[in-house]
Amino acid sequence: MGLIVQKFGGTSVGSTEKIRNAAERVIAEREAGHDVVVVVSAMGKSTDVLVDLAKELTDDPSKREMDMLLATGEQVTISLLAMALQARGYDAISFTGWQAGMKTEHVHGNARIVDIDESRIKEALSAGKVVVVAGFQGIADDLHITTLGRGGSDTTAVALAAALKADKCDIYTDVPGVFTTDPRYVSSARKLAGISYDEMLELANLGAGVLHPRAVEFAKNYQVPLEVRSSIENESGTLIEEESSMEQNLVVRGIAFEDQITRVTVCGLSSGLTTLSTIFTTLAKQNINVDIIIQSATSTNQTSISFSVKTDDLSKTVEVLEEYKGALGYEQIETESKLAKVSIVGSGMVSNPGVAAEMFAVLAQKDIQVKMVSTSEIKVSTVVGRDDMVKAVEALHDAFDLSKVSAAAHS
Ligand code: ADP
Ligand code: ASP
Ligand code: MG
Repeated sequence: MGLIVQKFGGTSVGSTEKIRNAAERVIAEREAGHDVVVVVSAMGKSTDVLVDLAKELTDDPSKREMDMLLATGEQVTISLLAMALQARGYDAISFTGWQAGMKTEHVHGNARIVDIDESRIKEALSAGKVVVVAGFQGIADDLHITTLGRGGSDTTAVALAAALKADKCDIYTDVPGVFTTDPRYVSSARKLAGISYDEMLELANLGAGVLHPRAVEFAKNYQVPLEVRSSIENESGTLIEEESSMEQNLVVRGIAFEDQITRVTVCGLSSGLTTLSTIFTTLAKQNINVDIIIQSATSTNQTSISFSVKTDDLSKTVEVLEEYKGALGYEQIETESKLAKVSIVGSGMVSNPGVAAEMFAVLAQKDIQVKMVSTSEIKVSTVVGRDDMVKAVEALHDAFDLSKVSAAAHS
């Protein structure tokens, strides 16, 4: 007998019928003799609905009250799932994040888990109950309710699995696993039988919304065996583990993408030694997250610096740059929005030179202009026009043979 943590995302609990279906998945594990902790998200799109309600009242809602509001979504699901289990004759109890001992830092909207007091969950499990926990929420030291960032229920599940030393953490969702790219955009996307923690972490950070990046971080740090699988079909999903041996030696294992990227160029800066540090220290102090950075000398004493930000952060970025124009000493700012980031990821790249070159060649062949580039050992990211995003992903998916992946079933 083992302990299994299951997590059901929004669409998988989007109606009472789906909640019943989730309950059956829980029951199947109970019947197999396992203890079960279930983490659930808010029903369907209800978190978005709550966000819209707040926006109807104010453009700038208090972050504390947003957390208070959004935490209600998951609370609806936990009670309904516990009821569905009880109606089937299984003992179940629901816990909010704080009841489940989910302690976070005091940051609203994107809090990190700092500790889990799992005693209450353990007590309920020993009493033979299924424990249903609200994902995405926690409590800070000073008793404020916090949330973990959009998509954060995955992180609740994996963190609980790590704390409880669960045998397995199953993420049930609306796709049957992790695909070579988002199957909603690319019809030739293929399910992967397995993927390594490092590759999955890159994909998640680069926009593959199937898993919350911090969930993958937890899984890697605590070696939690993780599986992403369908809440509808009864088929095996994708195993995320240390180094994946499943696929044929693919150099590129997946493609991630995100739109809403803007490039900001600060022109006419002096090419002094401290220019770079001054500009990025200023932005960091104002909490602006900068992604790709390119510096280019334009003439002997001048340089220009381009960097990418999320389009949502553009107005704040420009505001900060203008406010500090005197100290930064630049001539002008140029911005280009409607951009997207397309990234290829695969641990095989480490030992295969020429992957970036091949990526650029494929994009050039499709007449897609690359505006920015960044690389790491296992990824190459390019910034392209938003209108070229899906075309770029499809071309790369084809060129790197991802349409040929066959997800051999694992046991
Ligand atoms: P949940 O509500 O279950 O947490 P999400 O919407 O957060 O579900 O994540 C599942 C979605 O992730 C899929 O519907 C799919 O469109 C998207 N997705 C993005 N990249 C991938 C990928 N590489 N593989 C599978 N799904 C992906
Ligand atoms: N309900 C939250 C969201 O929609 C958390 C989650 O689903 O993981 O982002
Ligand atoms: Mg999700």
